[in-house]
Formats: sequence, structure tokens, C-alpha cells
Amino acid sequence: MLEQYHRIKNENRDAILMFRMGDFYEMFFDDAMLASRILEIALTARGRGTGNEAPMCGVPHHAVDSYIARLIATGLKVAVCDQVSEPGAGKGLVRREVVRVVSPGTLTDPAALDAKDNLYIACLLPDQGKIGAAYIDLSTGDFRVAEFAGPSAWEQVSLQMMFFRPREILHPEETDAGPALASVAAGAVLNPLPGWAFGRDAAYRLMTQQMGTASLAGFGCQEMDHAVRAGGALLHHLRNTQRSSLVHIHGVTVQQTSEQMVMDSATLRTLEVIRSLNTGTRAGSLLSILDRTVTPMGARRMQSWLISPPLRPATIELRLDAVGELVADGPGRDRTRSMLKPIRDIERLLSRVTLGTANARDLLSLRESLAPLPALSTLATEFESPLLNGRPGPLLSADTDGPPMAFDPLVDLHALLARAIHDEPAATIHEGGLIRDGFDPELDDLRAISRDGKSYIAGIEARERARTGISSLKVRYNKVFGYYIEVSRSNLPMVPADFERRQTLVGAERFVTPELKQYEEKVLTAQERIGSLENELFRRVRDQVAGEAVRLKATASRLADLDTLASLAEVAVCRAYTRPVITEEPRTAITGGRHPVVEALSTEERFVPNDLAAGGDSAPILIVTGPNMGGKSTFLRQTALITLMAQIGSFVPVERAEIGIVDRIFSRIGSSDNLAGGQSTFMVEMQETANILNNVTRRSLVLLDEVGRGTSTFDGLSLAWAIVEHLHEAPGGAPRVLFATHYHELTELALTMSGIRNLTVSVKESGQDVIFLRKIIEGSADRSYGIQVARLAGLPRPVIGRAREILANLENNELGRDGMPKLARHRPGAATAGPATGGQLPLFGSPADPAETEAAAEIRSLDTDQMTPIEALQILHRLRSRLTD
Ligand code: ADP
Ligand code: MG
Repeated sequence: MLEQYHRIKNENRDAILMFRMGDFYEMFFDDAMLASRILEIALTARGRGTGNEAPMCGVPHHAVDSYIARLIATGLKVAVCDQVSEPGAGKGLVRREVVRVVSPGTLTDPAALDAKDNLYIACLLPDQGKIGAAYIDLSTGDFRVAEFAGPSAWEQVSLQMMFFRPREILHPEETDAGPALASVAAGAVLNPLPGWAFGRDAAYRLMTQQMGTASLAGFGCQEMDHAVRAGGALLHHLRNTQRSSLVHIHGVTVQQTSEQMVMDSATLRTLEVIRSLNTGTRAGSLLSILDRTVTPMGARRMQSWLISPPLRPATIELRLDAVGELVADGPGRDRTRSMLKPIRDIERLLSRVTLGTANARDLLSLRESLAPLPALSTLATEFESPLLNGRPGPLLSADTDGPPMAFDPLVDLHALLARAIHDEPAATIHEGGLIRDGFDPELDDLRAISRDGKSYIAGIEARERARTGISSLKVRYNKVFGYYIEVSRSNLPMVPADFERRQTLVGAERFVTPELKQYEEKVLTAQERIGSLENELFRRVRDQVAGEAVRLKATASRLADLDTLASLAEVAVCRAYTRPVITEEPRTAITGGRHPVVEALSTEERFVPNDLAAGGDSAPILIVTGPNMGGKSTFLRQTALITLMAQIGSFVPVERAEIGIVDRIFSRIGSSDNLAGGQSTFMVEMQETANILNNVTRRSLVLLDEVGRGTSTFDGLSLAWAIVEHLHEAPGGAPRVLFATHYHELTELALTMSGIRNLTVSVKESGQDVIFLRKIIEGSADRSYGIQVARLAGLPRPVIGRAREILANLENNELGRDGMPKLARHRPGAATAGPATGGQLPLFGSPADPAETEAAAEIRSLDTDQMTPIEALQILHRLRSRLTD
């Protein structure tokens, strides 16, 4: 046995080998040492005392999935080795084979998977300046390929990694792109494959074979050699490790980045699309607000829509039409959602079916999930929207995601499962209890024999009594003779010729008949036979279901769409969202916009809606100044979230909105810290800003929130200024930009550039306090109210008082000729500056300059209350230029 073990282990050196022995999966040697530690199970030894001890540990076979999941979670691979011949005396060693290899990217056990998330395994092929990429979710059969070239190829790969978040990335063993691979891996396990797996011809053959087509032209990747090679290598690896034909993978989609809005990781993070910034969980994210799906397929679809909003207006309108119809038709929406509710994860159940790991409980789940489909498909035909009813309408041209298919209610499959699968099936598929009565005559017979033994015997007894006329005749059983007929001595003359004598007792004789012998044979083998027959029947049914994988997947996908659309409609009704107007013009106009998450989560404060106009007739670049805590960041983000929601086809939290389709959303927050990444925060801030300036187009939406805060005031201001200028002068036209800043100086930009407009958050001052009105209005803030906020926050009174003095000095003196702020040079009331007089050290020591003093005096003499902020700024400009002269 150990010899067999070593042979198999040798072929699976990179994996923990789980070796089936009876009811256990055993691990030996190093595998045992490692696994026992990770799984916290006892380490024992085989062959103790022989001097040839093998360390060993084991797990019960019925719980093996959960142990595999725990090993995988640490990044290990597991090879599952099963007994493939029947054990029995005299047949020698049981044959064993590895039936699948499980790695982090190929987990399909539902208990170990997040139902609301896809699990992809990726394959990357960097070769001669191009990168081929392939992604498969083994648990659902989703297969995508892509290809990248040019200087930004790796950046695009990295964006796709954000989308697919694979747990495992395969790549050619020999590559000089090691560092690049490591940098896009983002926590995924990197697994090398031999170079020959990436050969063009073999890969092409494998791909067409898997798709069942003559070429790949129909999938749009015929000419994409790199993508095909990556896809082929990935299929090769999965076929090898899963030891299955993977029939649920039968189509491939070319992932086109140009078809979708692009959001990079920083944008997804700062906008809190999928996870909240603070907790890193779903709670507090946009997804948590929009996701009222009732099936796991729907939950995954919702997430995938949110991170890849379409760009084509026709696709967006099609979804909006469907949502609109479900919003208007309350009863239809309720019925749809309640019919969807009992439906389980058909995609993942199907993948277990095709991988041959599904048990009878999985098929029962599938059966229960198919039950509501006929009613659901009837309901769907009553809708108008082609996305809901599946009827191709005039809108469904090549412009859309692909024509929706008619809803296939899979009645035949449900009938098969309803006839075949036991209502309370066993957890394993070896000991019976899988198949319903009435499905197979032979099984029924066997069951009758083992279950109805007593009445069957009574039947024989009664018949024999009638035939022989011996009323005391009995059918009995003992271990030595098995079944027999006992006739008392006095009745022996009446015994018929076909009774065969077996034993003579004092007062009776025992006989058998051919019927009895046959029956006995049947009973004794029935139990054993039931187990193997049920297993056989079950596998046959499972294969039949696997044969319908294409139809099952299509229906599952329809359900996912339906669920997602119904969820969006439900949220739209509950939260009073309205349908946005979609345009291809680069402009956004929102009336009464709200932040979908802040609005939903804020309890004490009523959310104040705000308007926005950017692009078109309005300036595309908006500089938002205003007090700390005024609502600037919220305003920026709600604009991006409303745009994103509109583009996935959702209604939006506005009174009215016209949304010009956006090709990219960029969102950056200054001084956001990335200490975990080991980079200085300002460095990160600037890298991210560089990324924006290099990739922005006229159709992009850019949010810059306090960018430039991570360095000294002058650096930061200068950078911020130059960044805004650059965006304004972008060759293809300025993108829509919202820049929230505490640098009031930036508002001067609006004086010189037509494409820039100033907005501010209104506040009401009452005494030394401020009240935030949360209303965004035209204009610029002249102060930050930082000191008021600090006071509200409880900073000690003397600190607040001193800060007011310094602020007054700053506001009066601004900058010296040397460009230094004359911060705290004079203390109010002090005759001269210097350590001797005030006891307060000046921060900057240069003596006052006459030109400066003069300018300062002039500023002080101005009656600023009588001026508009713009007039004041113009004067400031003038004074400044005099100073630099
Ligand atoms: P800023 O960026 O100007 O410092 P924030 O946008 O972070 O301010 O807003 C501060 C707080 O004010 C937020 O946490 C939010 O709860 C609240 N807030 C912001 N905008 C609104 C609004 N329009 N209506 C109600 N509360 C708001
Ligand atoms: Mg802010």
C-alpha cells in the first residue's frame, strides 16, 4: 500500500496528498506533519514498532471538503486520491487514483465559497511585448479572455485583476516578467506551468474542443493568439487537476475594457462601491444599499454590474426600461422576487454536477430550485421589457450585451430530478438513500425484499400452507441454514416432492424450496446491491443533468439578470429614486442630488439635497471650497455614485438628473494613508494623480478631494494649481472635475479660466459658532472655519484664542517678499516683534520690509465687507504683483 502511496505522491509532489483508506482520507510523512498542524488533528504513525514508522493523520471522508478548504486557505494545493476499484477479499490491493487537485483558485465546495462573490483562477502569458490573459470561475463556468499590448499593458492587467480578483494566477514557468507578475498578483498565489502548455496549436485545439466549435471566430478571439494560448493553458491545467471534462465551460467572452467604464482600485476604494473604507466590509458600501437580490446568482451579478458599468447608451436604456417597468408594476415585482427566493445557487450546483462532486443533496437543491421556473417564465412573458420577457425587441441589436434568450423553464430536468432523487437523501453517495421509489424497477424490487421481508415470508408461508394443507407449516430463519420450512412429524406424509430435506429434529423436519433459496439469495445480497445500484443510478442522473449544462447556465444567467433588475427596482421604490436621462454629451446636470449611502445611514441629520451642473453650457471644472465638515467630500462622492448608478441602469437619488456617459471615474483623496503598502502617503497621492493626468479623457469624471494636502502648503498649493490648469487645458477638452480644497487661493483660477467655476458650502455664523447648512452654492469660501470646528471639537480655550490671533496676522499680512508667510510676526497689541517684547518667538525671523508693510496697511484699510470675494481677490492679485516687483 505504501508503495502505491509513494508512486502517486511522486506524481503530485506539489500537493498535499489525501489518500482514501476506508472511511478516512489519510496523509503520510511530511504531508501529515504539515496538515496535522494546520488542521489541528492528531498525528499518529503507521507501522509502529517496525522500525519503519510512517507519520500519519487522517480526516473522515464525509467531512473532507471542509478540511480541504482549510488547507487551501493557507495557500496549499490538495490532491484527492480515491479508491477506484471495489475492495474485497482476494482481489489484492484496491486501485487508487487522484480524482481531483484542489488549489486556491479551484475551490468549488459551496460551504467554503462566498455565495455573493465569484472565484476566478487566472492565467497570464507575458510574451514578446504582449500579454494574454484568461479567467475561469470553475464554480460557475464563466470563462473570459483578454489581450493587452503597449506601454500601459501591465496597468490594464492590473485593472482587470481588480475586477476578477483571482485567488490563483498561472503563468509560464520561464518568464522575465516575474516582478510585473508579482506586482499585479495582489495577494493571489502564483503558480508556474510548463512552457509547452502555452503552445499555440495545442491551445487552439483545446479551446475549440472545449467550445465544441470548429473555430473561435464566433467568440471574437480567433486572431488573439496570446489570449488563446493563455486560455488553452488554463483549460489544460483545469482538465488535469479536476480530472473532468468541464462540460459547464462551453463559451468564452472576450473581456473588452473599451466596452466598460473603468474604475481603478483607488476609485473603487474611495467611493466605497463594494466595501466601506473604514471597516472593509460590505456594510456602508454602495453595494449594500443596492443589493436586495434574493439569489446568490443575483448577488454576484449585481456586484459585477457595479464594477463594470457599460458605456453603450442602448445597453443602459435597456436596463433602465426593465427597472422602470418593475418600479411601476409593484405586484409584478413582488411576485418575481418571491418566486426567485427559494432558488438556490444553480450555477455552483451545476459546477459540482459537471465536476462529478455533487451529491444527492445537491441534486435535491437543484430540483427545488427548478420548481418555481415554469411559473416564473409565465410571469416573465407578461412584461414588456425585452430584458425581462426574453423576446428580442427592436432595441436588441449588436449594440447590446447580447440578445437575451427566451426563458427556458427546464421542465424536463425538473421532472427527471423529481422522479429520481430521494426526498431526504443521504449525504454520501455510497450507502444508498439517494433514489426515490418508483424510479427503477430493479431497485424497487430490492427494496421490497429488504424492507418487506416479513410480509414476503408470510406470503410464502400462507401459499405453502394452502398448497400442502399443512396448517402448522412455518417459514423460519437461522444463521446456519438460512431460510427453511418446518413441518411437524405428524404432517410429514403431506410434504410435497419439491421440498428438499435439510435437517431432522426430534419432533419436526426442516426443508427448503427453490423459491425460498432464491429469495434467500436475494435478501442477502439486496442490501449490498442497493448501495451499488443507487450509486450507479445516481451517477447516471447526474450525468444527464451535466449534459444539460448549457441550458442550465443560460437559465441561471436569466435569473441573475431578473433578480438584479428587480433588486434595483425595489431599492428605487423604497428610497424614492428617479430615472436618469442618459446622454452621450459630456455633461452632467443634477437637481436635488443625494448621497445614496449617507442618506440611508444618517440618523440624526436630514440629508440636504444639492444641485450640480458640469460640462455642456456650464463650466466643466468645479472648485468646491468651504468649511471643514461642511459636506464637500459628500457632494463630490454623491456625484460620482449617481453617475455610476445611472450607468449600470439603476434609478438614482435625485429629483432630476441628466447624466452624460462617463468613460472613467477617477477619485482621489489627499493624504489618504497607505501605510500598509509601505509608501509615503504623499508619494501615493502623487502617483495616483499622475495616473489621472495620463489617462483622463474629455468623457471622464474626476474627483480630487483635498489633493495636495500631504505636503507643505506652498508645494501643495502650487501642485494643486498646476493640476487644475493642466486638466483645464487637456488637448481633447476638459473632463468634468470636482476639486474640493481648503486652498482658497485656487478659487482665483476662475478669474482667469472660463472652464472653471467656484462652488462653496454655505454656513451660517452665529457669534463664534458656525452652523453647517450643507447647501452647495455658487461662490467661494473666504475662510475654512477650522478654528470653529476645533472649538467644537474641544481644543483648550487658550489654544483656540492664540490660533485666532495667528490667523488674524496671517490674513492681514499674507506673504513677505521672500515668499515666507509672515506668520505670527506681530502679536496684536505688541509695539515691535521679537522675543524680548511678547515673550513669544516669531516663527520666521526676517525683518519687516517697507513695501510689505505698506501693502499690508492698504489691505487693512480696505472695507472688505463692501466687496464681492472676486473684487477682493483682484485687489489681492494686484498687491501681490507689486510685492514681487
Ligand atoms: P467636508 O469634506 O466638507 O469636510 P464631509 O463631506 O466629510 O465634509 O461631511 C461631513 C459630514 O456632514 C458627513 O459625515 C455627513 O454626515 C454630513 N453631511 C455632508 N453632506 C450632507 C448633506 N448634504 N446633508 C446632510 N448631512 C451631510
Ligand atoms: Mg472632506
